[in-house]
Amino acid sequence: MPAITCPECEAQIELDAGTEVGEIIVCSDCGVDLEVTALEPAAVQLAPMEQEDWGE
Ligand SMILES: [Zn+2]
Repeated sequence: MPAITCPECEAQIELDAGTEVGEIIVCSDCGVDLEVTALEPAAVQLAPMEQEDWGE
């Protein structure tokens, strides 16, 4: 499994099988939302907390 480093707390997070680009994962260490931006190599960025965008 690819693993990424949380940009917030630097914890190592293993991505689940089937994780796709654009998916939001949650750091189990600090709880921040992370958006998967690439898989090979795996990369994430902090996901914006915009609850208004969930309407669709
Ligand atoms: Zn974290």
